[in-house]
Amino acid sequence: MSIDLEFDRKHIWHPYTSLTNPLPTYPVKSACGVEITLETGEVLVDGMSSWWAAVHGYNHPKLNQALVEQSQQMSHVMFGGLTHKPAVDLSKKLVDLAPNGLEKVFLADSGSVSVEVAMKMAIQYWQSEHKQDKCRFLTVKNGYHGDTFAAMSVCDPVNGMHTLFNKTINQHLFANAPTPIFPKDKNELDEQLEKADLAQDHLIEITQLLKAHHNDIAAIIIEPVVQGAGGMRFYHPQYLKALRQLANQYNVLLIADEIATGFGRTGKMFACEWADITPDIMCVGKAITGGYMTLAATLTTSKVAEQICNGQAGVFMHGPTFMGNPLACAVANASLELLIENNWKEQVANVENWLNKYLQPIAEFAQVEDVRVLGAIGVVELKEPVPMEQIQAFFVEQGVWIRPFGKLVYLMPPFISEEKHIKKLAGAIEAWLKN
Ligand code: PMP
Repeated sequence: MSIDLEFDRKHIWHPYTSLTNPLPTYPVKSACGVEITLETGEVLVDGMSSWWAAVHGYNHPKLNQALVEQSQQMSHVMFGGLTHKPAVDLSKKLVDLAPNGLEKVFLADSGSVSVEVAMKMAIQYWQSEHKQDKCRFLTVKNGYHGDTFAAMSVCDPVNGMHTLFNKTINQHLFANAPTPIFPKDKNELDEQLEKADLAQDHLIEITQLLKAHHNDIAAIIIEPVVQGAGGMRFYHPQYLKALRQLANQYNVLLIADEIATGFGRTGKMFACEWADITPDIMCVGKAITGGYMTLAATLTTSKVAEQICNGQAGVFMHGPTFMGNPLACAVANASLELLIENNWKEQVANVENWLNKYLQPIAEFAQVEDVRVLGAIGVVELKEPVPMEQIQAFFVEQGVWIRPFGKLVYLMPPFISEEKHIKKLAGAIEAWLKN
């Protein structure tokens, strides 16, 4: 094998791992469609879309072509004082696709950075109104928004590394997480949304926090409808709709972190659409490039943008070196075109049906706490945490790539997956439970 795994083990950090006692990593030779081929010859059906990103599968001819063609024009130029077609085309597409009113685009280089940008936008917005005290954030427990400092400060305080970085991160306000209930019958959803009631139990606490602290709060930040890395919890869109109303009522902005949910994953282009709301600021990332490379964006309204620019600084204070990278924008343009060409809605609906068909029976196992499916997301929540090393090796033996965490064994397969792929992924989970 040509890859030096010993060097990898000794010198290279992988996500959230030890360098003195790392778990095994599996060397990948190539990936194509929904399959990942290991250096050791195994071919694995991908159940993760490389963390929500590779929605069209790997090694896609159209995405490859976009990259090659763009590299022959220019791979990168600075975005300060220069602009280019890939960035303009992409921003147009994002404005067209996003909920109405989000029409100003900041191209960031990763999801976490787009969250930092969103939080800075909210703070600069209130500074322009001479409300310097409005610089805290209100969020809910079980959230996840990224690993940089501001993003970390609004992640779940228990799961989210707060104890480690307690003295360095800013202290924000946390309400209990929304009740993890998504209506089973989606046709009833509209009716239930009409009846959205601010007096519901799970809103009382967040309302009280707003009442007490709104003079210090810049924005509410939340993952719409699906709390991802903080527990793969799906909550009722009514809650999101109520947050929109509360944000208006208490004069704070609403930031929607659509980094995981955006671009069709939940069955809507953006999860905010489940509640029919427009946030003041929205972060997108991950699937934006079809999983090819890192790119994210923070969108906002004209009102927020104008106010920021009327303020003391006169500009928005952020500008990364690789902002608007043409290669990333070109592949994102191709990926967004593919979503439409491939009829993503039908693809996601099919995946959702197959996830239901093959995962729901798993709920019968004694070790299983809950099985839930929304769009192209399927979650098997177990009663006990899984032994990572063993389960990972087991799944590889079964010919699938599934990467559980804690008690959660979950699937977010590429949208191009076929029934046989979902069956194989679910079959491997079932085999583990029978094992
Ligand atoms: N927000 C959410 C909801 C996410 O799921 C993630 C990534 N898991 C991030 C932010 C951070 O994005 P990135 O890893 O690209 O920095």
